[in-house]
Amino acid sequence: MSTVVAIDGPAGAGKSTVARLLAEKMNFTYVNTGSLYRAVAWALKEAGLAVDDVTQEFLDKLVLEYKNGILLVNGVDPGAGLRTADIASGASLVSKKDFVRSHLLPVQRDAADKGWIVMEGRDIGTVVFPDARCKFFITASLEARAKRRLAQAGEVASGATLEEVKKEIAKRDEQDSKRELAPLRAADDAVVIDTGDMTPDEVVCAMEKVISAAM
Ligand code: C5P
Repeated sequence: MSTVVAIDGPAGAGKSTVARLLAEKMNFTYVNTGSLYRAVAWALKEAGLAVDDVTQEFLDKLVLEYKNGILLVNGVDPGAGLRTADIASGASLVSKKDFVRSHLLPVQRDAADKGWIVMEGRDIGTVVFPDARCKFFITASLEARAKRRLAQAGEVASGATLEEVKKEIAKRDEQDSKRELAPLRAADDAVVIDTGDMTPDEVVCAMEKVISAAM
């Protein structure tokens, strides 16, 4: 029986906040898969390369490993370097490439060898773990998601307006949901939660009920 709780959804829906809280409460391991795509974009930038320069050889030399929930890239924790608007956009572009997705699939699946995990991303319930024990699709209106992003330090350029953040998020969502491979969508058997009017604790409570019933 699968020991995976899958959380998918668009940018800024609050996935990371609730996934981290849920994992903490249930004593499960937390895995953020967006970090892997961001790590590829970050490593390309560090090497002075453009997103389109990514090759299989480049990926083969890249060492990606989770240590205590933190992603190390060639042994280094990029920290806040992964969470810039520039890297988010680069991640969305590299994630369209089939060889990048195939390369990152085993890294994500290996993470589930270590017992119960809460894994968040875009295609966890549909592609990475279609047999996940519980699947959630977390969403909210574009306005609500952009407001949350604006309130977070780092992820948006300083001085960015709400309209600019809305545009940036909408563009990334469109890229992610219209791509051919593993597009962003709710699995047919996912529980959909609109977090617009909910606090993170309320979302986690709702999830805990579903998980307890499935355990
Ligand atoms: O979740 P996060 O915003 O960190 O993800 C960055 C980008 O990585 C997404 O916009 C998406 O293009 C890609 N991604 C993906 N599949 C996942 C997780 C993230 O394609 N499972």
